[in-house]
Amino acid sequence: METKKRKLEKTEIEYSVIVPIYNEEGNIERLDSEIKEVLKELKKPFEIIYINDGSKDNTLSELKKLKAVKIVDLNRNYGQATALDAGFKEAIGEIIISLDGDLQNDPKDIPMLLEALEKENLDVVCGWRKDRKDKKGIKILTKTGRFLRQLLIKDPVHDTGCTLRVYKKEAIKNLDIGGEMHRYILALLRWKGFRIGEIVVNHRPRENGISKYGYSKLIKGFIDLLYIWFLDKYYQRPLHIFGLVGIISFFLGILSEIWAFITRIFFGLSLNRSGWFYIGFFLMIMGITFFAFGIVLDLLMKIHLNTSPYEMRYNIREIIEK
Ligand code: UDP
Ligand code: MG
Repeated sequence: METKKRKLEKTEIEYSVIVPIYNEEGNIERLDSEIKEVLKELKKPFEIIYINDGSKDNTLSELKKLKAVKIVDLNRNYGQATALDAGFKEAIGEIIISLDGDLQNDPKDIPMLLEALEKENLDVVCGWRKDRKDKKGIKILTKTGRFLRQLLIKDPVHDTGCTLRVYKKEAIKNLDIGGEMHRYILALLRWKGFRIGEIVVNHRPRENGISKYGYSKLIKGFIDLLYIWFLDKYYQRPLHIFGLVGIISFFLGILSEIWAFITRIFFGLSLNRSGWFYIGFFLMIMGITFFAFGIVLDLLMKIHLNTSPYEMRYNIREIIEK
C-alpha cells in the first residue's frame, strides 16, 4: 500500500528544484521566495529541495523556517558536487532544476531554460554566465580552463561551472558524481550521449557571504580534466593508451641499446660508461611496466563494467516498435 502511494506521488511532481547550500545565511529567505514566485507561474506541481552541506552558521535554522520545502541535511560538509548528487538522488520530478544558493543565479531564467529543453528536444540545458560577476582572476582562470577543455575533450559548452541548469530525469538517473566533479557533469553526460544545449543567463554579484572556492580549483580542475579526457577516450579500453605508451617506450629503449652497442663496437666506449645503455635499460623497463599496467587496468574495467550499476556501457534514447 505504502509503495503504491509513493509511486502515485512520484508521477505527479513535474519539477524538482535542487539547491546546494553551504554557509548561506542571509540568502535563504529571499532565495526561497524568488524560486517559488517563478515556479508558481509555471502552474505545475513542483518540489524544492535544499541540501544543507554541513553549514556552520545559521543556515539550517533559516532553512527550517521555510514552508513547503524539503531539506536534506548532510552530516558534514562534502562539497558542492556531493550536495548536488544528494539532491539528484532525492528528486522525484520529471525535470530537475539546479541552481546555486547564493542568489548569483537568477531563478527568473528558469522558464527560458525549460522552454529550450522542451522545444529543442534536449536532455540538458545549461546556463552560460556570459557576463560573470566574479573576481577578475577567477574569470581569467575560467577562460584558460575552457581553452584546455576544448583542446583535450573538445567540450563545446562555454560555462561548465554554472549550476543553473535543467535536466530531464533520464539524464541524471545514472550519473554518479562527487569530489568536485560537478564541473564535468556536462562532459560526462555528453560522453553518455545526452543532448546538451546552453543559454545565456543572468549572473548577479554575491551580496551575502563569501565564495567557497578560490584559486585552489585551478590544479584540481586540471587533474579532473585529465581524468575526463582519459574517460572520454580510453574508458572501455585503457590498454590502448597504456599499451601504446609502453610499446613506444620499449622501442625507444631498444634503439638506445642498439646505439650503445654500436658505440661499444666501433668507438670502444664501454657499456658501463655509456648513458645510452642506462637510458635504454630504463625505457625498456618502463615500457614493460606500462604495458602490464594497461592489461591490469583493462581487466579491472571489464570487471567494473560488468558489476557496477551506475556505469552503464550505453544508454538507449528510445525503443521504437512498429
Ligand atoms: N556549496 C556547497 N558546498 C560547498 C561549497 C559550496 O553546497 O562545499 C554551495 C554554495 O552554498 C552555493 C554553491 O554551492 O550555493 C556555489 O558555491 P559558491 O557561490 O561559493 O561558488 P562560486 O559561485 O564562487 O563558484
Ligand atoms: Mg556563487
